[in-house]
Amino acid sequence: MSTKNQRIAILGAGGLGACVALELSQRGYKVDLYEEHSAPLKKASYANEGKVHVGFIYAMDKSFHTANSMLIGAVHFMEYLQRWVDVKPEEMISSPFYYLVHKGSLLNATELNAHYQKCCQVFAELSGGGKKKYLGLFDSLEAKLLPKSKMQDIGNPEFIDDIFETTEYAVDPRYIAEKLTEAILSDPNINLILNTKVEAVAKVKERLKVISRNAGLQIEEEYSDVINATWNGLLEIDRTMGIEPLGKWSHRYKFANKILVPLEKQDLPSTTIVLGAFGDTVNFLERGVFMSWYPVGRTGWSEDYRPPDWDTIYSEDERMDVFQRSFEALKERVPALGNLKFPLEAVDPVGGDILALGTVDVDKNESRLHERFEVGIRSFGNYHTVDTGKYTIIPYLAMKVADRLEGKG
Ligand SMILES: Cc1cc2nc3c(=O)[nH]c(=O)nc-3n(C[C@H](O)[C@H](O)[C@H](O)COP(=O)(O)OP(=O)(O)OC[C@H]3O[C@@H](n4cnc5c(N)ncnc54)[C@H](O)[C@@H]3O)c2cc1C
Repeated sequence: MSTKNQRIAILGAGGLGACVALELSQRGYKVDLYEEHSAPLKKASYANEGKVHVGFIYAMDKSFHTANSMLIGAVHFMEYLQRWVDVKPEEMISSPFYYLVHKGSLLNATELNAHYQKCCQVFAELSGGGKKKYLGLFDSLEAKLLPKSKMQDIGNPEFIDDIFETTEYAVDPRYIAEKLTEAILSDPNINLILNTKVEAVAKVKERLKVISRNAGLQIEEEYSDVINATWNGLLEIDRTMGIEPLGKWSHRYKFANKILVPLEKQDLPSTTIVLGAFGDTVNFLERGVFMSWYPVGRTGWSEDYRPPDWDTIYSEDERMDVFQRSFEALKERVPALGNLKFPLEAVDPVGGDILALGTVDVDKNESRLHERFEVGIRSFGNYHTVDTGKYTIIPYLAMKVADRLEGKG
């Protein structure tokens, strides 16, 4: 039975931790929110591309489970987020994505089209025929093969065989991170504990002890419920509770280069180049550009419980080098990128960790990284560990975690 006197700890003030904290606060609970960094929401939920996936990219998962879970996340994304923060979709969404089918793609345009049409159909079912709008704005989903005559404006045919025009979008994660940060800082029910790394959780009879470290000092606090939302720290903390991952896993460090200059829609198409180790360009209009080229930007790979602290190990020069080489590779495929004018100071080559089951990279058919459905909440008594899997499903999972704490599922 839940009571408002429960003492709740949330580990990790990233996207998921912040959303869970805000939802529990709305339901009348007080929470301690631990964060090892000096500020909340500066890791994966800040650096990522912000694509609110509708399943298109997960065409290699023939079970359709991954696409389905992305679609569930996508139809709830804005509705739930707006419970916690005043975000205006039209202030932060990208231009719609084109899907560019690269030479050597793991699936051809016909195979991709069949998958995309299934995503559109399932969206129609999940949204109740448009009752739940994608990003609060769109009541249907589309993916159409472009005629060859229209392709050249978007992608270079030397590399690109086919192009789909879709109605998938990204939201600017920095805008959302800013709003969530303001909300958790001003909420009297949320006690944000910064610069404090959680090292372990231990069972003490019916309760859980969180052992953390701040400036060399060990701190121990007991709670009735603990939610692990630490992403890069998830497995290391779970392990102290004797909990192992569901299979072999990898952490990847991927660069998320931003160019912070305002653009018009026609300056650059938003593109996802499929299917394999390719990349993306995202036109966030007033809010700039995101771009990543996987063969250059996926710099780190670790199969340890906790990956290296990649955010601190690359020098400024190394980061700019990743940016330059990604830019060169991408502008060959998406020529409009090469026409952009911007000062080098507008470039912000941040990066982030991606935790997933699978140890074979995405350029291979057999890679498990093409799936992302064995994610979500695992509960062990009053200890709940949450692998978000994707940004897309954070708001949906945050509501589920709060329900779980109240014994509702
Ligand atoms: C480059 C890149 C692009 C991506 N693009 C997309 C995309 O387009 N769409 C999509 O859906 N997903 C995308 N993702 C995945 C997405 O970013 C993540 O799934 C999601 O942001 C993870 O959210 P989170 O709250 O679990 O983790 P985070 O936001 O990283 O939060 C975890 C927090 O826990 C803290 N922490 C860690 N260990 C400890 C500890 N021991 N003690 C205390 N605090 C700790 C961290 O400092 C961090 O603040 C991308 C990821 C990357 C890196």
